[in-house]
Amino acid sequence: MKRIAIFYCKKIKDHTCIACTKCFKGASNREGEFAQYDDDIEIVALTDCGDCPGLLYPRIPMILGAVKNMGVEVDAVHFGSCIKMAYEHGYCPMEVDEVAAKAGNILDIPVIIGTHPYEPYMAFRK
Ligand code: SF4
Ligand code: SF4
Repeated sequence: MKRIAIFYCKKIKDHTCIACTKCFKGASNREGEFAQYDDDIEIVALTDCGDCPGLLYPRIPMILGAVKNMGVEVDAVHFGSCIKMAYEHGYCPMEVDEVAAKAGNILDIPVIIGTHPYEPYMAFRK
């Protein structure tokens, strides 16, 4: 079992990506960035980036500490595909690659950019 903490873009969640159903589906089906795991996936935390201008870096160890206090270890952190989209196609002020690399170094677990593979606006299709 891989226990995963997901961080989402606070500006996108529930606007173009409703109720995080895409990440739950992607994790359950091991699609997109979840395809790299052979084990089943348990999402043990799902929380925001801290909002603009980008408070993700200090927030990650704080959230993982809260999860640990519940007696749960996190095996990997994923930045949602929403954060990737905000960074690559929006005006996200974070250097997301740098944040992921730095967080991975201090936590000593994988910090992966991206989650589900589904297109952003599929919720509006029939
Ligand atoms: S990409 Fe995932 S974490 Fe981000 S808002 Fe969509 S479902 Fe939630
Ligand atoms: S644009 Fe970037 S910093 Fe702003 S809420 Fe989204 S992920 Fe967070």
